[in-house]
Amino acid sequence: MKQTNRSIVIVPFGGEIAEYLADVAESLYEQFGLPIRIEEDRGLPAFALDPVRQQYNSNVILKELLGSCPPGGLKILGITAVDLFSPIFAYIFGEAQFNGRGAVVSSYRLRGAGNNPDAKGCPPLVSRLEKECLHELGHTFGLRHCSDPNCLMHYSIGVECADRKFAFFCPACRDLMLWHMASDLFLKPC
Ligand SMILES: [Zn+2]
Ligand SMILES: [Zn+2]
Repeated sequence: MKQTNRSIVIVPFGGEIAEYLADVAESLYEQFGLPIRIEEDRGLPAFALDPVRQQYNSNVILKELLGSCPPGGLKILGITAVDLFSPIFAYIFGEAQFNGRGAVVSSYRLRGAGNNPDAKGCPPLVSRLEKECLHELGHTFGLRHCSDPNCLMHYSIGVECADRKFAFFCPACRDLMLWHMASDLFLKPC
């Protein structure tokens, strides 16, 4: 299988998350086994700002990402520190195209209660961000929410930490993800 020419592309929107990108990339590589490319920072996504809500529309950011996927990009993941919403939710940690190409994640709400990144008992922000990125990319690889509370695809939100507790796909999700990845790699030219 020719996997080496297909990569997961990370697109930073704003410098605030720059310090986390290398760790996120490593974590994505560990779970998906695909080359990871980090593109140049595109700056704050002002094009997606809703002037009334003073939040950023994740649908608009996704559309922008999908329109600018570089050759060889199998999946494209936008990462930002701005507050994201999608029209039916007050706020979101991230959004992904189910079985599609694009995902976007924000660190904004992952900082936890009181925006305190060092809240007692919470894992570091970078760890929360990694898990959120893995979860959203899991959706792009055809994974739905999983009933296994230990799985990355489990839909549970820690109230204190606003995070997901575990950093692994359960065996069933992992198998399904690999199956979808194989068909993506064969069938979807970039
Ligand atoms: Zn989800
Ligand atoms: Zn699972």
